[in-house]
Amino acid sequence: MKSNKEKVALTTLGCKVNQYESTALAEDLGKKGFSLVSFRSPADIYIINTCTVTAFSDFQARQLIRRAKRTNPQAKIIVTGCYAQVAAAEIAALNGVNLVIGNDQKHIIPALLQKGAINSKGTFSDDIFQQKTFCEMPLTKFSGRTRAFLKIQDGCNSFCSYCIVPFARGKSRSLPPKNILEAVTKFVQNGYREIVLTGIHLGAYGYDLNPPANLTGILRQIINCRKDVRLRLSSIEPGEITDELLQLLNKEDILCPHLHIPLQSGDDKILQMMKRNYDSYFYRMLIEKISIALSDLAIGVDVMVGFPGEGDAEFNNTLKLLQDLPVAYLHVFPYSERPGTTAQKLYPKVPEKAKKERASILRNLSSKKREEFSLRFLGKKLDVLVEKGKDKRTGLRKGFSNNYLPVLLENNDSSVGGRVVKICAEKYHDGKLYGKIVPG
Ligand code: SF4
Repeated sequence: MKSNKEKVALTTLGCKVNQYESTALAEDLGKKGFSLVSFRSPADIYIINTCTVTAFSDFQARQLIRRAKRTNPQAKIIVTGCYAQVAAAEIAALNGVNLVIGNDQKHIIPALLQKGAINSKGTFSDDIFQQKTFCEMPLTKFSGRTRAFLKIQDGCNSFCSYCIVPFARGKSRSLPPKNILEAVTKFVQNGYREIVLTGIHLGAYGYDLNPPANLTGILRQIINCRKDVRLRLSSIEPGEITDELLQLLNKEDILCPHLHIPLQSGDDKILQMMKRNYDSYFYRMLIEKISIALSDLAIGVDVMVGFPGEGDAEFNNTLKLLQDLPVAYLHVFPYSERPGTTAQKLYPKVPEKAKKERASILRNLSSKKREEFSLRFLGKKLDVLVEKGKDKRTGLRKGFSNNYLPVLLENNDSSVGGRVVKICAEKYHDGKLYGKIVPG
């Protein structure tokens, strides 16, 4: 049967917050009667939710605009997201773009489409720094995903020298506790057993609210009303990990023992040039304190290589620090020049070849750390949220433990998808633990 619904194709670049917002947009578009189709197929309207974290992200967005136009030359194109927020005029001038919509107006896209705004060219974007309140984009389901993400904070007040994000997202703003509790309840009612609380600068949660709130406070409120879901935190800055948060992580089983703590560099001169507000000693003490207080907690680390001024000595300080610390894995990013940031004007630049070599050294270290951390759990019991799909390579059921270890299940029980089960880890192979479900 032929549908008369307008077909909308949506694609997303960038971080978990952008992914969350696109999923919320898709849910709202569906409710308003639009038909969602794959970005590769012919659609009436294409929406590109962009990222602008590097010059390459902007390039990818322009490529997607051209691809959409090639797939259907008659289609209308909407560009939204971070690149649209910081370079609205540049994007509006591109061939084929109908609407440019900043981050502050992203939530009104479905309503704009209903009103027929797509039939003329236009830009909907205000000064993001004037945005004082959190713009909620409700979401109840993530199709095809076992865990739900909940965006509870937006914006950042920190202005690290390499980062354009504060210009794309504005000042820190938070979702009020009442709305968070409602959203958590909806996810649980829809069957989710893990929610990842996410934001641009999660540790700044609540400071803008009246009365002020904080991350530990909202975690306590969720814990008081729900015991039937586990909570994971996305990335959190070193200076925002309080003793109170660590005590809560220690006491409450529903909080996943997993923290992702950006380091960026282990060299104090580079950290200063990055305008990060800690030094390598603070970071070392913090990680050691966490690993003593919570020995099974997985610590993930973001680290950047090739920031201007990083010579061999500075890189070796980063390498040495990470070799010493009991971390579980690293996310390694080669520094990439971002026009409009202070770091763009910093010298000397690091040759691409050196960046590649340093990234490769740290990625090897990450594999070693992952293996060391995983091996500690052989013979032990772990709580694993089993995913609905199977591992492509082995055909086994797969999932993540509460401390973020990827696990493959050797007893292939189809009824466990989406549930948290207890497993006993029996072997480690190729970056993953293998285990069997055991009685809880
Ligand atoms: S804390 Fe720094 S790196 Fe993170 S979003 Fe804010 S400015 Fe960017």
